[in-house]
Formats: sequence, C-alpha cells, structure tokens
Amino acid sequence: MIDIKSLTLPELQEEMEKIGEKKFRAGQIYEWMHVKLVDSFDEMTNLSKGLREKLKEQYELISLELVEVQTSKIDETSKFLFRLSDGNVIESVLMKYHHGNSVCISSQVGCRMGCRFCASTLDGLERGLKPSEMLDQIYKIQKWSQERVHNVVVMGTGEPLDNYDSLLRFIHLLTDEGGLHISQRNLTVSTCGIVPNMRRLADEKLQITLALSLHASSQEKRKTLMPVAYKFDLKDVLDACRYYFEQTGRRITFEYSLVGGVNDSSEDARELTELVKDLNCHINLIPVNPIKERDYVQSDSRAILNFKNKLEKSGINVTIRREMGRDIDGACGQLRKSYMDTEKER
Ligand code: SF4
Repeated sequence: MIDIKSLTLPELQEEMEKIGEKKFRAGQIYEWMHVKLVDSFDEMTNLSKGLREKLKEQYELISLELVEVQTSKIDETSKFLFRLSDGNVIESVLMKYHHGNSVCISSQVGCRMGCRFCASTLDGLERGLKPSEMLDQIYKIQKWSQERVHNVVVMGTGEPLDNYDSLLRFIHLLTDEGGLHISQRNLTVSTCGIVPNMRRLADEKLQITLALSLHASSQEKRKTLMPVAYKFDLKDVLDACRYYFEQTGRRITFEYSLVGGVNDSSEDARELTELVKDLNCHINLIPVNPIKERDYVQSDSRAILNFKNKLEKSGINVTIRREMGRDIDGACGQLRKSYMDTEKER
C-alpha cells in the first residue's frame, strides 16, 4: 500500500487522477494530514464516503501510537515513546524553551554508527524511518501539547544522513507552505560525519542548520569515541562543513560531548580551537549523560567551565547545553532502551 503521508502535493494530485478523482481532492487530503493532523481517513469529513473507502483500500495513513509519556517535574521536558505499525518503538522529546517548543525526533529504528557514548546504537540498526514516521512524531506531539512546535531537531535515535532520501522528503514536507510550514531555519539536522551525504545536502542549498557531532579534537581521539571516524577522516569531515557553509551561508554547529577524563582537558580545548578557528561555527558543549552499559562519566563542573572559558578566550562562539529533563530516563535513546529491555524480559 502506498504511504500517503509521505507524498508531496503534486504526487498526491497525480494519485487522485490515477484513481479517477478530481485533482483538488489532493489539496483537501493534504490539508487533513499535514495541517489538521488527523489520524484516519474517516475524519476527512469533506470527502465522500465512497472516496474515503477507496483511500482505505489503496493507501496507508501512517499514524504513530503513543505508548508512554514521561514529563520532567523540573523543566516540563517530555519524552515520548511511539509504536510504529510494524511493532518497533521509537523515542522523541519535547523541550519547552522561552523562544518556543522544540521537538527532537528519531530518524531510524536503532543506529549502526556505534558511537561509544550512545545508548541508541547498542542493538544496531533495525531500519530507517519513513518520511511519514518522522513527521508524525512532530504531529502527535503538537496535538498532545496543544501548542505549536517551533523548532525541530533531527538528533534523536539514528543517523539522519544514513537515511538520506527519506530525510530530504521529510524536510520538504515539514517546511512546505501547505503543511505545518516550519521554517527551514528552525530545523537542525545532526550528523556524525557521513562526508558524501554532507556534501549532497550542501548542494540542496537548504536553509537548515547542519550540526556535526564532533566530540573529539583529533582524528585519533575521535576514532576511540566514534567508529565512523575510521571511514571518514576528520579533515574531510571539516572540509565538508566548510563546503556546507559556502553553499548555504549557514553557520555550522559542532556538538562536543564532554566525557570526564577523555576529551575535557585544557589540551583538548587548545586542539579543538586550532581545528575550528577558521570556520564560521558555534560549539555546543554537552556534559555527557552516563549510560549504564558504558563506563563513561560526566566531566565535573569545573572542567566544563574551564573548557568553555578556554574556547571563549580564543574567540570561539560556545554554549553549554542546558540539560533538559534530568529526572526522566537520562540520555537520548535510554527511554526506548529501558522499554525494550523490559519487553524482552516479559
Ligand atoms: S550518537 Fe547518533 S549517530 Fe552515534 S550511535 Fe548514537 S544515534 Fe547513532
């Protein structure tokens, strides 16, 4: 069956013609799915019953099932577990900031990138998400909170550039004028550094922000934290970042997880400065969340501040990411992981 929520409006118009319906029906269906955010064809009340039946026979309307929500008592951050139609579960997060609501979504079920500090990769990759499954995380959260989503970050489970075609279609649908119409500038895609696809994305000349998970100040150190570094050399990754900026004019964000005693020394800060000083960038320092399956610990607060000051003194734009939802199931991927572990035990 065709996944109707992943179709663009022109594609949907073609589909309507194929099944002998008027073209304008496509606009109505598109609006039901992407603006009114309905979950079933039966809710599309300006369509005839006959057409709704025809749609049910030929098209699948992807709608995620909300399994669990945990809301932080500290800062109202909420983590969501959704079940997909094939039974897999994925995790998304809603963060409330003074500048608006931000949703962090997953792009794959599991991940094959193997980053040493990440819980999402412990069971490998199951599959990439469809565009509709990425969109519906945002739609369901907007409906649940009854507040508009302003920012979207593709930074949850999965490597978005390992699911490139679906990601691109998702971006077009999410930012489309006829849909939820989130501005491209309010969308961030995070990658661990898949060089060819970073360059492909640059050539799309979109206005989205590219965030690179850097996490180390040298190629050697990066290899110990992120196996992807064996495939793509740090120099080529940074060249791809430069290329992204040249093509789009968008400043790169570097994500740097601080792991106690591993990459948080003054020497690391100095190396990092050397690495990025000629790039138009912003560095986000993330105090790493300890995960029980790995022995990494968070840097202490003095080391974190010291690291930040060192970078700032060299004129680098840097922030420490505020930890959100400290009281609810830790780092990205951990809610899903603990849910899956409990399921297995049953
Ligand atoms: S940090 Fe991202 S890319 Fe790395 S293993 Fe985790 S989900 Fe995959």
